[in-house]
Amino acid sequence: MHSLEDYRHIVGEEVISSIYRKARALYGIKVININSTFYGGGVAEILNSLVPLMNDAGVEADWRILRGTTDFFDITKKFHNALQGDQINLTPIKQRLYTQASETFASYCHIDDDCVIIHDPQPLPLIKYFKKKQPWVWRCHVDLSDPNPTLWEYLKGFILRYDMVIISCPRYRREDLPVFQRVIYPAIDPLSPKNMDLTKATIAKYLKKFGIPTDKPIVSQVSRFDKWKEPDKVLDIFDMVRRKVDCRLVLCGSMATDDPEGQQVYERVRRKANTMIKSGDVILITSENNILVNALQRSSAVIIQKSSKEGFGLSVTEALWKGKPVVASNVGGIAHQIVDGESGFLLPPSDKQEFAKRIIEIIKDPKLGEKLGEKGRAHVRERFLITRLLSDHLDLLNDLMR
Ligand code: UDP
Repeated sequence: MHSLEDYRHIVGEEVISSIYRKARALYGIKVININSTFYGGGVAEILNSLVPLMNDAGVEADWRILRGTTDFFDITKKFHNALQGDQINLTPIKQRLYTQASETFASYCHIDDDCVIIHDPQPLPLIKYFKKKQPWVWRCHVDLSDPNPTLWEYLKGFILRYDMVIISCPRYRREDLPVFQRVIYPAIDPLSPKNMDLTKATIAKYLKKFGIPTDKPIVSQVSRFDKWKEPDKVLDIFDMVRRKVDCRLVLCGSMATDDPEGQQVYERVRRKANTMIKSGDVILITSENNILVNALQRSSAVIIQKSSKEGFGLSVTEALWKGKPVVASNVGGIAHQIVDGESGFLLPPSDKQEFAKRIIEIIKDPKLGEKLGEKGRAHVRERFLITRLLSDHLDLLNDLMR
């Protein structure tokens, strides 16, 4: 378990001291975070580091998981897709199954905290089933710029009860939502197993364990098998790249417990990879292993993030932190992380040719990759480390408790 002082050598003493200062007015304050999975995806990743550090700073922070049936997660995945613009048939049965998980949770979970932070749409209805005695914040990690209107109207019924909504980027702000909206950028933990420094021996051990040879440059994408992350299009791009430079593609996507579509997307990608590229140059990994992700990112010559929608894109942050060149779609939060041509390449999501061109360019010129990676790492150090996120959360609590 890390404590704040462990981050001193990374972010400097000023940052650590200002965190302690902000926490002073919050001693004894109890905060509860609720989401719907303890692993897989960015939210679990953030809470895993943020909650212990809040406690270390002096706030009594707790983290609970909303339990749900398979039906529930099927529906909330549809909600997630519809919030990002998909169609949805919002039947009364879906609505009932959606709210039932919150109602059941409320029947045995007692909240006596001073502040409640609800993450993402799955536990959003909880607010309806508790006697509200404290500020409730809805922390939305999803791209809200173009939600399906029917679903948005329905969800607004719950959101309007909240004291504040937190979004991941300024452009997710909704003019049609009369609830105070605050931007807090997500962040990564530089000391977590996924991001900490690794020795060459450890990297080699993990790559071997998961069957990833290092005889050719590795191009990778670390993302859930999710249609919005477009792993099938990554295959198309790789097909163009390998005709010009010899390399290998690794798609690493563990299955989150709250994402029932992962298996189907994975099967589709596996079939396509087998028919398209016969040489064994595409490796698909579905294991959940943080050190593997770390080792893979550190061993990659280029990291891709070919998403068509992306709330923020912590995988990109992680890659940049490792000083790696990232070629990514100019969508959602990714645009806040990469300056095109300076700290990576930011491309129109539909332009597969341009993706291939940039990847080839970097593989052929490793110095270019190093230069981009260096700038990317500096940008993450300044803006997207967990200490900044902790500091933002302390500001939030100070404002709410005033
Ligand atoms: N991730 C992982 N293993 C995998 C695939 C993804 O640990 O096989 C992690 C990844 O390293 C990152 C998070 O899941 O920390 C994904 O967060 P992001 O914001 O990129 O996307 P989300 O899944 O939240 O849409």
